[in-house]
Amino acid sequence: MIIGVLVELSNKNIDKMFDYLVPKQLEADIKIGIRVEVPFGSQTLDGFVLEIKDKSSSEFELKEIISIKDNDIVLNDELLELGRIMKNKTLATLISCYQVMLPKALKAKQGRVINKKFDTYYKVNEDVLSGIKTTPKQEELINLVREKELVKRSELLEISSSILSTLVKKNILVEEKLEKYRLNYSKELGSKFQLTSDQENIVEEVLKDTSFKPYLLHGVTGSGKTEVYMELIEDALNKGKTSIMLVPEISLTPQMVERFQKRFGDNIAALHSALSDGEKYDEWRRIVRGEASIVIGARSAIFAPLNNIGMIIIDEEHSESYKQSDSNPRYSAKDVAMIRGKYHNCPVIFGSATPSLEVMARSQKGVYKYLSLPNRVNGKKLPLVRIIDMNEEIKKSKGHFSRNLVTSINDKLEKGEQVILLLNRRGYASFVTCKSCGYTFKCPNCDISLTYHKSSNTMRCHYCGYGTKVYDTCPECKEKAISDLGVGTQKVEEELGEIFPNARILRMDFDTTSRKGAHEKMITAFKNHEYDILLGTQIVAKGLDFSNVTLVGVINADTSLNIPDFRSSENTFSLLSQVAGRSGRSEKSGEVIIQTYNPDHYAISYTKMHDYMGFYNKEMEIRKTLKYPPFYYLCHIKISGKEMEYVSKEAEKIKRALARNLLETSILGPTPSTIFRVNNVFRFGIILKYKKEDKLEETLEKVLEHYKGNSKIRVDIDFNPSQIY
Ligand code: ADP
Ligand code: ZN
Repeated sequence: MIIGVLVELSNKNIDKMFDYLVPKQLEADIKIGIRVEVPFGSQTLDGFVLEIKDKSSSEFELKEIISIKDNDIVLNDELLELGRIMKNKTLATLISCYQVMLPKALKAKQGRVINKKFDTYYKVNEDVLSGIKTTPKQEELINLVREKELVKRSELLEISSSILSTLVKKNILVEEKLEKYRLNYSKELGSKFQLTSDQENIVEEVLKDTSFKPYLLHGVTGSGKTEVYMELIEDALNKGKTSIMLVPEISLTPQMVERFQKRFGDNIAALHSALSDGEKYDEWRRIVRGEASIVIGARSAIFAPLNNIGMIIIDEEHSESYKQSDSNPRYSAKDVAMIRGKYHNCPVIFGSATPSLEVMARSQKGVYKYLSLPNRVNGKKLPLVRIIDMNEEIKKSKGHFSRNLVTSINDKLEKGEQVILLLNRRGYASFVTCKSCGYTFKCPNCDISLTYHKSSNTMRCHYCGYGTKVYDTCPECKEKAISDLGVGTQKVEEELGEIFPNARILRMDFDTTSRKGAHEKMITAFKNHEYDILLGTQIVAKGLDFSNVTLVGVINADTSLNIPDFRSSENTFSLLSQVAGRSGRSEKSGEVIIQTYNPDHYAISYTKMHDYMGFYNKEMEIRKTLKYPPFYYLCHIKISGKEMEYVSKEAEKIKRALARNLLETSILGPTPSTIFRVNNVFRFGIILKYKKEDKLEETLEKVLEHYKGNSKIRVDIDFNPSQIY
C-alpha cells in the first residue's frame, strides 16, 4: 500500500505531498484523514493521509511510514473538501488550511503530546468470587459495585479504603480506566421564556424551510436575539441535528455559556481561547463522538467536526474577529459558514444590532433574507443618549470626567444602581513623551511608540516585546520633562477613586483578565453587586447582560475614529451602539453619556438617535464615492523582508506584473505600511480594488509561485481585509 501524505515544512509557505509505503501490519488501520509519522530527510514529521493508492509517480525510492498517530479520523471528508475550497479562495497553502481547523493536540506537528485523562473505576470479577469467603462488610461493597457495574475509585475510597484495597488484592474488584474530560457541564436545566410574538415570527419564518438559506437577523440590543438562536437550535436538536453558534471571542462570556448550559445541559461544547490545549482537545473529541451536539465558540469553532449540521448562527456578525488577518490562511469564518451551510443544506443566520455594511447590502439586494427585531423584549425604549462636547468641557471637568458624567454617576450610586464606563482604546497607546521638546520614545526594532507600563515602570513595544525602563531625562533635549501621555485604564481608575471615594470600582481590561477564570469571577462579582462601577476597554461593550446597570458612560469616543482605515466610522458606530445597549436592559430605564471631541461626526450623531439605517445610508454614499466595499472588493498584498531596498524593488516589480495582467482593477501602491518596520522586517502593501476581475486568482498565484522558497521576501495575500492600515 502506498499513501500520499501532506506534511508541513516549517514556515516555508509551500505545499508538499509525498508518497510513503505502509508496512503490512499497519495497512488495516490506514484511513484517509488520519495523521501518520513519517521520516523526512534526517527528521521525522507528522502529516495527513490524503491518498491511498497502488502506484507512485515518484522517481525516488519510497520510504516506510513510522507510525499511525490517531485511531479516529482527524479530518473527515467534509473538512478535507472544505480545506481545498479555502485554499482556492485564500491562496494559502493546503496544509495551513487544515492546520487552522484543528486544536493544537491534533495538528500535524511534533510537539508536546497532549494526553487524555483517565478516571479509575472498579468492577466485580465474578469468576474469582465464587471460591472466596467474604465478610459481610466486604459483601456490602461488592454488592454496591455489582449493582452499578462500574464505580469510581474516589467513591469507594470514601466508603472504606481498607476494604477496597483488600478486595483489589484478592482480585475480586478489578480496575478499569475510563477516559475523562477536563471540562464538565452541569446537566441541570433552567426554565425557558415564552417567546414574544416578534421572536415567534422570526422562528416561524426560518423554520418554514430549513434548507440552505442565509438570513440577516437585525435586532436592536436586548431584543432577544439569543433566545431566538436557542429556539432555532432546539428545533434542530429535536430533528436529531447539530448546531454551531459563533460569537466574537470577547462576548463569549461565562454568562453566554451559562445560558446555553441552562437550556441544553451538557449537550454543549464551548471552544475559545481561555481553554487550555488539553481542554480544547477534550471538547473536540466530545464533538467528534457525538457527545455534544451544540458548539458555541469563537472564529475557529466554525470548523467544529460536527456531522449533520442543522443550524449555523453567527452572532455579532459585524465583528472583525471573524476574519483571521494576522496569519495564513486569511479566511473569514462567515465565508466558511456559508460553505458548510451549503454542504449540510441548512440555514445560516447572521445576527447583529449593527450589521456590517456588506451583510446589510446583501440583504437589501435580497441575497440574504432580512429579519428584524426592532424593539427590546421588555418593551422598554432604547436608552437615552447624551453627547458631551469635550472641546469646551475639558477645561471645567475633573480629569477625564465631564460634570454631567460625574452628576449622573453620583445619581446612580445614590439609587444603588450600577454603572459601566468604556475607555475606548482602539488604535490607541499610552506613549511616553518629553513635554519640553516633544520627543517620543520609539522601539529600536519597529516603527512604533513604546507603551508605558505603570506596574513595572517600563516602556514596552507591543509588536516585538522590546522593553526598557523609563528614563527621567529626555535623551534629546536633556530636560527632566518626561511624562506618559494618554489614558490608560489604571490612570482613569485612579481618577475615579478620587472623585467617588466610596464607590466600589472594578477594572476590566486585557491586563486584569488574562489570568484563567479572572474574567468569569469579575462578571459574577459585578452581577452580585459587589462593585458599583465597571470600568473597562472594549471588553465591556459586548454580550454582557446586567439588569441593574442604568448608566453607560463612554469616556472617549474618538480614538477609534482616528484610525486610518476606511471602516473606522463603521467600527466606531457599532462599538458605541453596542456599549450603549448594555444600559437599561431590565425594568429600570437606562441612559448613556458619550464624551467626544467630534460631537458632529455622523458616527456619533446616529448613535445618539439609535438610527442604524441613517448611518448605513450615509456611510454607503461615502463608500460608493471612494470605491470601497461593499461596492468594490479589496485585496491587500503584503510584501515584507529584512532588506528594505530589495523588498521595495520587488514590490514595484509585483505592481508592474499586476498592472500588465489585471486590466479591470485599480492598483494602489506599493506603499510602506502604516507600521513600516516590525522586528526589523520592512513591510509594503499593494491594494487592489475591483468589481470583477477574471484573471485575479491566476495572476496572484503566479506572483506567489515566483517568490516561493525565496527567503529574502515574503508575499501574503489578504482578500477582503478587515483592516488595511
Ligand atoms: P440580545 O441577544 O438581542 O441582546 P437577549 O437574548 O440577550 O437579547 O435578551 C435580552 C434580555 O431579555 C435577556 O435578559 C433575556 O433573558 C431576556 N429575554 C429574551 N427573550 C425573552 C422573552 N421572550 N421573555 C422574557 N425575557 C426575555
Ligand atoms: Zn518593537
